[in-house]
Amino acid sequence: MRYISRDTQATIDLNALVENYQYVASIAPQSNTIAVVKADAYGHDANLVAHALSPHVELFAVGFIDEALALRQSGIKNNILILEGPFKVSDFTIAHEHNFLLMLHSDYQIDWLLSHQPQLTQNIWLKVDTGMNRLGFAIDDIDNIISKLDTTTQQNLVLCSHFSTSEQITSRKPVEQLARLKPLVEKYSCQFSMANSAGIFNFPASHGDYTRLGLALYGISPTDNNLLTEQLNPVMTLQAKIIAIHQVEIGETVGYGDTWSATRTSKIATVAIGYADGYPRNAKSGTPVFINGRVVPIVGRVSMDMITVDVTDLTVVAVGDSVELWGKHISIDSVAKSSDTINYELLTRVSKRVPKVAAS
Ligand SMILES: *Cc1c(COP(=O)(O)O)cnc(C)c1O
Repeated sequence: MRYISRDTQATIDLNALVENYQYVASIAPQSNTIAVVKADAYGHDANLVAHALSPHVELFAVGFIDEALALRQSGIKNNILILEGPFKVSDFTIAHEHNFLLMLHSDYQIDWLLSHQPQLTQNIWLKVDTGMNRLGFAIDDIDNIISKLDTTTQQNLVLCSHFSTSEQITSRKPVEQLARLKPLVEKYSCQFSMANSAGIFNFPASHGDYTRLGLALYGISPTDNNLLTEQLNPVMTLQAKIIAIHQVEIGETVGYGDTWSATRTSKIATVAIGYADGYPRNAKSGTPVFINGRVVPIVGRVSMDMITVDVTDLTVVAVGDSVELWGKHISIDSVAKSSDTINYELLTRVSKRVPKVAAS
């Protein structure tokens, strides 16, 4: 057993996780919903998450093979799609041995594929650049690429692409991107995959054969203008304890840089979480936290191991009380907004120092 002195932790609600999966899958009933667990399952602990989902999910996706191997080592048997494909030619041998599906995006990967013996028996996923201009083959090059593949590979092809603006329900770009991919899908009568979380909610025409569900799986809405996302339930609750309470007089300051000063006699609680735990250093005074049923603001700068919170307005507050930084009561989006970042970054930055514990 690992000894835990400091009670700072991220609780992971695995029931909510499975419910989110089943709910989003029901929105795209004709598609195979891939559970994206890259980046340690968006900071939720990939082993915990993959084991909870594995009876419900056919296919997982990660960024690169190292992440997939870690899942295999923890006993996950499902097929795993490698979203960035092989980084080395030897990745093909590993993919062959472990049933990893490779998404190929560049000529050098096609050369590796063609030279590799024994040939991969898994489906090959080809990434098409439909307007993100980050990864993928140009539309005009696809005929040439596909002509190099043997017939079995051609028959088992999945064409895929990625949206650059799918969180904006009024954006025309996703419609254009899909219109660029679809003719190729029809020409080769192959399967296709386009939608990420926001695509699933905002652009049903993009559901295709496989959707790639990341953020919404973790109960966070990928778009703020779609009623369907209201049913999502946050999976992670980030919590820490109050370790000290100080009275601060008018004019006195709190924390590094003296950036906040009291305009009334204030009660300031010091909470055991800081930027070394992944709480954003950019969080401004006023960023909400949740204590004893009330929302209260952080004040002063975030330190490496601690934050300070104005609890003057709480009638009941004591050392040892639990503080929610985000989760069921504090939306991670409100923290992201007052820290000039996005929910994805906050989730994936919760550091190793914070234990991820399945909620009981
Ligand atoms: C991370 C990723 C996803 C998942 O995106 P969300 O917005 O988190 O749903 C889908 N496709 C690719 C290629 C990705 O890299």
